[in-house]
Order: sequence, then C-alpha cells, then structure tokens
Amino acid sequence: MTVEDLRRRAAEADAANPVAGLRDRFALPDGIIYLDGNSLGAQPRAAEAVAADVVRRQWGTDLIRSWNDNGWWEAPVRIGDRIGALVGAAPGQVVVTDSTSVNLFKVLTAATRLRPDRRLIVTDVASFPTDLYLADAVADLLDREVVRLSPPEVVGFLGECGEDVALVAVSSVDYRTGEAWDLPTITRAAQGVGALVSWDLCHAAGALDVRLDDHEVDLAVGCTYKYLNGGPGSPSFLYVATRHQDRFEHPLSGWQGHAEPFAMADRYTPALGIDRGRVGSPPVLSLLTLEAGLDAFDGVTMAEVRAASLSLTGLFLDAVAELLPEVAVATPPEPERRGSQVSLRHPDAFGVVAALIERGVIGDFREPDIVRLGFAAPYVSHAEAVEAAVALRAVLDAGEHLDPRHVRGTVT
Ligand SMILES: *Cc1c(COP(=O)(O)O)cnc(C)c1O
Repeated sequence: MTVEDLRRRAAEADAANPVAGLRDRFALPDGIIYLDGNSLGAQPRAAEAVAADVVRRQWGTDLIRSWNDNGWWEAPVRIGDRIGALVGAAPGQVVVTDSTSVNLFKVLTAATRLRPDRRLIVTDVASFPTDLYLADAVADLLDREVVRLSPPEVVGFLGECGEDVALVAVSSVDYRTGEAWDLPTITRAAQGVGALVSWDLCHAAGALDVRLDDHEVDLAVGCTYKYLNGGPGSPSFLYVATRHQDRFEHPLSGWQGHAEPFAMADRYTPALGIDRGRVGSPPVLSLLTLEAGLDAFDGVTMAEVRAASLSLTGLFLDAVAELLPEVAVATPPEPERRGSQVSLRHPDAFGVVAALIERGVIGDFREPDIVRLGFAAPYVSHAEAVEAAVALRAVLDAGEHLDPRHVRGTVT
C-alpha cells in the first residue's frame, strides 16, 4: 500500500463516517492534528459562550440567586445523568464532583467497608499512579492489603484467593499502552466470589461503549477533561449502582452530601441516592462549560463513536505497518483489545513527540519510551491519521527527534 492508497482509504472512511459531522462542534486551530484528546480534550465551540454567560450574567448579575435560578445546585447530578447516558448508566447513578483521585478515595473506602471480613484490594500493577497511591493509602487506613496484578491475571487470582478479596479496582484502558481490558469478564469474576468491582473509566468515557448498567458494574470513576472535553481540570464523575447507594459510606462527610444541606444540622446524615457522593461546593464555571461541551455528542450513539475510533486506530496501525515498519507498536492489534489510542515505542520517544509537535501533530510522551497518540473520533479524521504517520516518517528520516533543542517541560 502506498501513501496514496492510504490517503484514498482515509477519504472513503471519512465520507462514510457518521461521527465525522461532529468535528464542526470543536474549535481546533488550523494546521494542527490533535492526537492528545486522551489527556486534554479539544474545546467544544459551545463552551466559550457558556463560560462568558456564567461569568457575566449568572455570576455578575444574578449573583447568589444563581444557585436556584440558574440550576447551579443541581448541576452535579444533572450533568452526572448526561455523562451516565454516555457510559450506559440510567439516571440517578452518576454525580460530577471533585477530582478522579478524590473519587477513587471515596470508592476504595466505601467498597472496602462493605466487605469488612475481606483482607485484599486487587488493583492493576500498571495503573495510573494516582490509582496505585490511593489504593495503598486506603489499605493503610483500613488495615487491608493491596495485591497488584496485571488485569489478565485477575480472574485466575480470584479463583484461588477470591474469598479474601473485598474489591477489584482496575482501569478499563491501560493509559500507557492503550490496551482495553475485558470489563464484563473481570466484573463477573469479581462478583462471582462476592467481591465488589470498581472501574476507572478515565480513558474510556466518551470513547468506548462502556455500558455500566448492562454489565452490572458496582462502582466507577472517570475524568471529564479527556474524551468528554470538559476543559482543563473539569471535575470527575462518580458512578454508584443504585443497589449500593444506601450503603455507600465514604469518609468525606461534607455538607453537600448531607441529606438536608440547608437544615445546617450539627451531625452528618448522608443523603439518599447519588447525592451522597458530593462533598463541598462544586467548581461551577468548570461544571457548566463541561455541560455545554457534552452537547457535542448529541445525535450520535457511543456505539458509533466507538466504531469510528476503532476505524481511526485501525487505519493508523495499518499506516504504521506500511510506512514505519521499524517502529514497535505497544497497542494490541485486535480491535476488542484496543482503547482509543495507539502507543508506539521508541528509544527517543520524548524527542519523537517534540519533533511531531513542531510539525503540528500533537501527541504526548509517557515514561519510559512511549509515544502516545489519542484518536478522539468526534474531531479526528482518517485523513489526519494517515498524515500523522506520514509526519512521523518524515521526522525519523530527517532525524528531527535527535535535535538537542527538545527539552522537557514539567508536563510531558
Ligand atoms: C487521567 C487519569 C487520572 C487523573 O486523576 P485526577 O485526579 O483527575 O488528576 C486518574 N486515573 C487514571 C487512570 C487516569 O487516566
């Protein structure tokens, strides 16, 4: 296959892609191929006007009345339901609040307390660091033990030691390699031995067709600033299945999770339902721009978004095989084992990413040797997937990745 063949295939795929029309809903700069939506999603056009309205009118004019009149108070659960629709959760099970790290703390403590006689918390050995740190912290606090396994080892471990396991807490996609784990099988295996299961959906929400309710998942958390395009630092979401809500007891007993916040009682009584996942005052500006951004998904199903994402990563993998045969691919070739990114391995991965950025192809670097390229189907085209591979070929041919000007900033 030549570059021209790949470009022809891309044009056909873009023409037939039901998700391609969403691109106009995003404000992306000209000349940029943005492959980092797995780290910070692109800006939905609607966000700017909403941010201006929240600052000028809602805050500037309506002031404190906005908690009632502009729906600020209900925003965490109202927007939670919208995210619920994208991750397959019926209304009343998702709240948008705090950071993913804080929601992990709530889930880990509440779930472990629901299994007081079980010693172990099982987590993914290659998890994003915050997930590992919090599992260790909660095990320490509640006098339990963490077992770090690769997700494919979890089912076998549960077969041997399942009766000791309180919670299996794993990410649905490996943030480095982009490998997607088998959520239904691990969920069933955990529940089969009486453990609870919690999924970190940071790299799945807005990209994969997760279907939490269909798979009877117990608990989940996830970011909104990645594939949900909520903007920098937008608050995280917490999912607690209805059947667990009244026994979901996390220790962050803040007033907004109280049954009657405005009774101003001097003792904490948790709210019934998902409201008990709330803690303190939410970041309203960020919440409401997130809400506006979710409109970008209107009119498409997550099955369509997922199919478009697989088509994009599939075409990119073919382009890599064709144009970059010497480059190692960390992401599994099988579609069902792929998240929404393709990770390449290169000894000068940081230089490769920096050189690609100079050519207008934005991805990111992850230790130790990963070039990570995210394919957010709502705004990345097949044509761009091919041009990214062409740009990478040019970088390597010219040795641009070896240029000593590339120095690491704090954020890679
Ligand atoms: C991005 C990411 C996080 C981020 O946590 P914050 O508290 O929102 O900074 C956590 N876990 C995983 C798996 C992630 O990919």
